Amino acid sequence: LTQGLHRSLQRHPGKEALNHLGDSTRRSLTFAELVPSVARQAGALARQGVRAGDRVALLAPNNDYLVQALLACWWLGAVACPLNIRWSAAELAHAVADSGAELLLVDETLVPPANPLDVRTVALERFAAEADSCAELPDTRTGDDALAAILYTGGTTGRAKGVMLSHANFWSACVARGAELPNSPHSVALLVAPLFHVAGLGRLLGQLVVGGTCVTLARFQADRVLDAIENHGVSDIVAVPTMLQSLLDAPGFRPERVQGLTRVAFGAAPMPPDLLARALDSLPHAEFFQAYGMTETAGAVCMNPPENHRAEARELGLANSVGCAGLGAEIVVADDAGREVPRGAVGEVIVRGPMVMRGYWRQPETTQAAFRDGWLRTGDAGRMDASGHLFIVDRIKDMIITGGENVYSGEVETVLRAHPAVAQAAVVGVPDARWGESVHAVVVLRNGTTADVLREWCRGRMAGYKCPRGFSFVPELPVSAAGKVLKNVLREQVRG
Ligand code: ATP
Ligand code: MG
Repeated sequence: LTQGLHRSLQRHPGKEALNHLGDSTRRSLTFAELVPSVARQAGALARQGVRAGDRVALLAPNNDYLVQALLACWWLGAVACPLNIRWSAAELAHAVADSGAELLLVDETLVPPANPLDVRTVALERFAAEADSCAELPDTRTGDDALAAILYTGGTTGRAKGVMLSHANFWSACVARGAELPNSPHSVALLVAPLFHVAGLGRLLGQLVVGGTCVTLARFQADRVLDAIENHGVSDIVAVPTMLQSLLDAPGFRPERVQGLTRVAFGAAPMPPDLLARALDSLPHAEFFQAYGMTETAGAVCMNPPENHRAEARELGLANSVGCAGLGAEIVVADDAGREVPRGAVGEVIVRGPMVMRGYWRQPETTQAAFRDGWLRTGDAGRMDASGHLFIVDRIKDMIITGGENVYSGEVETVLRAHPAVAQAAVVGVPDARWGESVHAVVVLRNGTTADVLREWCRGRMAGYKCPRGFSFVPELPVSAAGKVLKNVLREQVRG
């Protein structure tokens, strides 16, 4: 992975590689400054006793120090384990023990857990400062099959799993993405999706290898994002749908402030069609690009290019597709036995290709269950049209089976969101003595309405068995650090 850095150094030495927009500080580095700095940080890691193959845990919000520490791990041939900054102390302790990390580098703005973690810990800022006095280490140029990272999954459906990703996995994902949406060295990408998730990390790599600039912000705040676009030249953004929603809802949002935003990549969670339509109308100068993928595939495996978001394609419904299989990836919608279902039918999305993980870290059984005949089972339900466009309909775990009929939560949510009084909606199954499960809607309202009104609204637009029987109104939905609705939490609350 460091090869991309050498490439950018040769071609664009004077270009800005990183620009961190801190609360009160701004730090920027050109490629000519970044590469030797990474080499020194690799030296500092070695001085801490880290050797090739060792795991280094990293706990920090998005910033330039975190980026350099990640790159230093690869320079040294170590395995980076970026951890979720929103985890509880118990979750952190689990991941630190699970990864078997040699060292933890932690951002000092994060509150230290009450019980210190069982690992040697160094403050990231101090580490970076001390690295300045280290000699530059030569790049170890790790082989393609070496482990580059253990990335933890989003934890949307349960405890996060450590995914083993090799350098080749990341490269393949980078190439697949670049083939669909080439990154330009003139682009300035805002990294607000966390770097401990594959979406943020993948974008970082894609940008560094072409000599583009990455702007980092510690957390997503709509006004800061607008400022970065307006005043710091941001042209590209990678966002989860909830981020786009808060950007469009921000009091400071005005079309003239976002003129410079020319590319919007989104994914990681289902994009509500009404939100997409609104984003397309509000950002007419931007190209839109949807990515579908997962930690287990080192990023996007399916990509819906800008042309599918233009007016004619929108009428065909293609804007709501996650696109076709990316370069190198094979994608099939399969039945329970792994056979391809007829086009148009719903089945499980399965994936094969060079970006697919080497397995879950220290979980041989889970790994075995995730693969069938060399294909990764995504756990996502989808359908593919005759031309190979994939549509994700639900997570299999979130599908509701009521009276023997399958209900896809996403379909019901789309209908609910179309009601003017509804800001957000999540649909879950609750146990039901008669039907097995019944459909329950959890709704965040924009303005007042009643369950009866929404029930009536649904009845006119969907088959009766899909219409929610129960409704809960809440001020906000529980979301993960990646901005995904936590349906297992909702299910517990509703069943509670
Ligand atoms: P966990 O596996 O721990 O439950 P997670 O699946 O959310 O968490 P990730 O690997 O970050 O962890 O997310 C991958 C999942 O996100 C996919 O399996 C899919 O369900 C969902 N996803 C990703 N991109 C899209 C997209 N464009 N549209 C709909 N869903 C998407
Ligand atoms: Mg998953």
